[in-house]
Amino acid sequence: MRLGLFGGTFDPIHQGHIHLIQQILDRNMVDEVLVVPAGNPWMRSDGPIASAMDRLAMVELALSDLPARVKSRVGVCECEVRRSGPTYTIDTVEELYGSRPDVAIVIILGSDAAAQIDKWHRSAELRNLVEVLIIARDGEGLDIDALDLSSTKVRQELLTHHSVTGDIPANVLTYIKEHNLYAS
Ligand code: ATP
Repeated sequence: MRLGLFGGTFDPIHQGHIHLIQQILDRNMVDEVLVVPAGNPWMRSDGPIASAMDRLAMVELALSDLPARVKSRVGVCECEVRRSGPTYTIDTVEELYGSRPDVAIVIILGSDAAAQIDKWHRSAELRNLVEVLIIARDGEGLDIDALDLSSTKVRQELLTHHSVTGDIPANVLTYIKEHNLYAS
């Protein structure tokens, strides 16, 4: 069983993330994808804007909208938002292998994130424990026709009152408005 670990800040989750998940599963690169919102992404110069609980809620809303054939193969891991202290992927991997020793973990990363992997906590040990699948964004990797979309762009559009319809799922937009996220 190949378990894809798709971590990120998801501040907020957008169609680029969702397109990636669907592509990975449709191409059978892994059997299942576990989406893992980061609690405290220590490598980012700016912290997340939305709280961990809001980012987790938006991920769950977005995934609830997936077509059934995809949804049955996607889960969300709350492990990182529930853990205190800086978020280290190796802690998540060790935790998952503890509870699911039968799986082979595949870390799924956009090429921008992959460029940083050597700086991750206990990076060499991590590389020995997992396979890394790199998705071409602005760099080398598996070509999935990645969408030209980022959370930064979505946040900017929201701040400047531009339409984000098509960039994020409708239920995520409703959540953002109801909770007044990214407004200023
Ligand atoms: P930000 O703009 O805030 O940096 P982001 O859009 O890059 O956010 P993250 O939550 O930081 O989103 O990314 C999580 C993972 O998803 C990373 O591995 C990143 O490379 C990947 N990713 C983000 N956007 C896309 C996209 N449009 N296509 C493919 N992969 C993406």
